[in-house]
Amino acid sequence: MTDGLTLTRRRLERNEEAELDKGDVLVFNPSVTSNGGLSEAFRIFVNPSTLTKPPAIRRRPGVPVPEESTTVMLFQPTTDPVGPDVATNDDEHNTFAAFFGPHDRRNGLVTPTNNPDMEVTEPGVLSAAMYASEQTPLDAPLHFLSTNNILSNLIFDSTPLWEAKGWIGVPLAQFVKPFMNRLRQRARQDASGPSPQTFHKANPPARVIDPRFELTGAKLSSLTQALAYRGIIEQHKAPQRRQTEENLAAAKTHMQTPQMRSTIWMSTRHKDFSRPFAVFLWKIMHGGLKCGAYWNRIQGYEDRAMCSHCGAIESIQHILFECEAAGQSLIWSLVRTIWEKKGIKWPSLSATDILTLGLTTWVDQKGRVRQGATRLWRVLISEAVHLIWKLRCDRVIGHAEDEQWEHRETLVWNKLQFTLNSRLALDVEAVKRKYGGSALKRDLVLATWNKVLRDEPALPMDWTAYTGFLVGRTPALRVDLEPD
Ligand SMILES: [Zn+2]
Repeated sequence: MTDGLTLTRRRLERNEEAELDKGDVLVFNPSVTSNGGLSEAFRIFVNPSTLTKPPAIRRRPGVPVPEESTTVMLFQPTTDPVGPDVATNDDEHNTFAAFFGPHDRRNGLVTPTNNPDMEVTEPGVLSAAMYASEQTPLDAPLHFLSTNNILSNLIFDSTPLWEAKGWIGVPLAQFVKPFMNRLRQRARQDASGPSPQTFHKANPPARVIDPRFELTGAKLSSLTQALAYRGIIEQHKAPQRRQTEENLAAAKTHMQTPQMRSTIWMSTRHKDFSRPFAVFLWKIMHGGLKCGAYWNRIQGYEDRAMCSHCGAIESIQHILFECEAAGQSLIWSLVRTIWEKKGIKWPSLSATDILTLGLTTWVDQKGRVRQGATRLWRVLISEAVHLIWKLRCDRVIGHAEDEQWEHRETLVWNKLQFTLNSRLALDVEAVKRKYGGSALKRDLVLATWNKVLRDEPALPMDWTAYTGFLVGRTPALRVDLEPD
């Protein structure tokens, strides 16, 4: 490239060292080059239509005119207090603004999606940036300002990795790729940095991709077997959507009161769940766990749909509640023992109860929500379910060569004890004053574990300040797994 836009080594270093909080900017490098061996340069899963177009050479820039330099502020009017006032309706929480300056006719509002289930922040920022770049001549320098690092992280950190992997498994691809395509067509340096009024509603950006600036396919050197496999699945557009719809419908019917789809989705990320469990629940919702019917969709792997221990179809329901391999039934009987100490009857459970776990509440005789019991329920059930799943994977994948291999009961017992005590210890840590406003309420923690701790009468009234986790201290602060 002779147009002076490809970044020199010094400039690339400056990007590496840039500290956005201190007002540095990152400069976009529009060139796609490959160094190294052949596998760096070969790409697979390439979109055939891009092959028929000649490789792109950027337009020759004219004489740089500093006054043409444009700065655009990107922000979300309903949540970003820094931006100029923008009149939006309450329901427009998914609206993003591109602000060129007071009374600038290019100021615009962009809604990235009408899908209420979609996380909008990144698509929103990208759509606003795309809109802004469409409003700016291709050869005028463009600066993006925002209150966060979302755009710079996406363009400078994530995109190179995603491009190397051919965008396989990247839901944001539909938003990032058109924007990258547009940036590469530009003949001026663009920069992104953090920031220190009238808007019209813009048409959504067209997201048209010029095939000559399009980099498709995955670098051979970045392709693992797992990634190649996902690429094949994506190329076949495996219909997981139907499973998601079925699960959502089942969750809706299961709840006694009507629930919105977005409420059900939100509940899968309940703050009482560990992060790994939330991810696991999200995968159940999408039918994305590698078990049961998942394998029926993949030619040559249909036998994996069966439970290797029982020979039944290995559905989530089977793994969590029916499988005869050591694990699930012992865990449920222990969890039931703990729950009944709370003085509440153990209900019968099915996989749908797990889908709606974040929405389930326990009430007293006057119909008031029992906060402590409800929280204990979420913690107990989520941890039990996740442990059962982890034990199953350990057995099926870790000991695949021996179909009759099972966990020892003492190991299952110890793992559950360890898991629940870890949650208890996390709670004790979370009430500490050093976390200020985000500290978990002491009363809620006490109410959560009340009646289910070992030697509870011997513990101080406020045991959250008690250092009973120290070895050798009696009584020890522990969840009681023994029956009364
Ligand atoms: Zn089984």
